[in-house]
Amino acid sequence: MIKNRNMHPGSQRTSNNRKSKTGFLAVLGLTAITLLVPDAANAYTTTGCRWSSNSVTWSNGTTNYSYDLSAKNAAASWASATQVNNMASSGGKMKVYDYNTGANGYDGYAWWTCNLGNLTSAAVTLNKYYTDRMPTTKKQAIWVHEFGHGLGLNHSQYSSAIMWNCPACVFNNYGYRTPRWDDINGMNAIY
Ligand SMILES: [Zn+2]
Repeated sequence: MIKNRNMHPGSQRTSNNRKSKTGFLAVLGLTAITLLVPDAANAYTTTGCRWSSNSVTWSNGTTNYSYDLSAKNAAASWASATQVNNMASSGGKMKVYDYNTGANGYDGYAWWTCNLGNLTSAAVTLNKYYTDRMPTTKKQAIWVHEFGHGLGLNHSQYSSAIMWNCPACVFNNYGYRTPRWDDINGMNAIY
């Protein structure tokens, strides 16, 4: 059985000088990926992995009310906007939690394991080092982005898409904290 384990530099912080050199290199790599997208009308990319059913649930490991509420709102926004259903925090192989990974330049991370295109587990996380001080609405924007990875989306080249590599920037610039049209197109292409 072949399994691929992917660690994803989820939510880059590009709006200030905390950005790490590693993070900058990750952006260059992801830029190279987006250039391979053949359809100019859409800017989304996918991870090549999906859950076997579009009825997805998740395990809630958030540590306080703000993280809990923002994660639930983020999950519900994918379910209401796309063909992904359920997205209830009723257990499941997608683990959702906040934890402190320090001043590494990332607001969030997602990981997943994938077997022949089928997701077998995923982790969707926020980095408390930065996100503890954020309002619930901004946490939600980053959760939406990380849930997007956990469901099979990679980054969009559109700077107004929630799957842009800096969802905190999308929130700061536009106030968006739900999937946008390119995000929705991408998710509906997967499920
Ligand atoms: Zn990301």
